Amino acid sequence: MNTATPSAECTLFVVAAPSGAGKSTLVNALLEREPAISLSISHTTRPPRPGEQYGRHYFFVEREEFEREIAEGIFLEHAEVHGNLYGTSRTTVDTLLAQGRDVLLEIDWQGARQIRKTKPDCVSVFILPPSRTELERRLRGRGSDSPEVIARRLHNSREEIAHAHEFDYIIVNDNFDVALSDLQAIVHAVRQRSELQWRRHEALIAELLA
Ligand code: 5GP
Repeated sequence: MNTATPSAECTLFVVAAPSGAGKSTLVNALLEREPAISLSISHTTRPPRPGEQYGRHYFFVEREEFEREIAEGIFLEHAEVHGNLYGTSRTTVDTLLAQGRDVLLEIDWQGARQIRKTKPDCVSVFILPPSRTELERRLRGRGSDSPEVIARRLHNSREEIAHAHEFDYIIVNDNFDVALSDLQAIVHAVRQRSELQWRRHEALIAELLA
């Protein structure tokens, strides 16, 4: 059983996008600039792409094992995406938050919906591509997926995008640097929210009010 108590001063960020919007590249650049944020590594039944490592990109597991983990209740959220199962470990997220880390989940809209129910204080961001043509170009440019996988992901992008309005923020990833600074601006704004700052600066406020 997980006994970690999430810190009230930390934030759970949820970032979603259709495949090919550039979400992972943006998130990785954000994590480099914001060392206080930890990425939660998901479990998946998808086979690894060339270069992907167990425990670094995903915990790659067989469907049978994943289904057993669902039954054991280890996931904070899980969903079937593009024919594979993906899930976020409850213990990982709560332990990181309890350690005083902000946590970022890179998940799909179904997972984001589940997280909003259990962690209503989460902050969610949706990344849009600048056009359908560009989305297709980026998906093909990745070079690691088969034409069938690319076609399926393109087809599914409409459903993902149709849920963008459920998120707190939407960023259009046209110019990478602009999109990155928009994402960073959201992180910085969230950290200055008064309910967080009031707790964080309790001693200062007490001194100022003395
Ligand atoms: P990919 O196979 O390209 O790494 O990811 C495919 C989709 O699954 C992306 O939309 C990604 O955000 C989503 N995904 C990755 N991990 C999780 C997870 O733990 N939960 C959910 N619900 N979706 C995930």
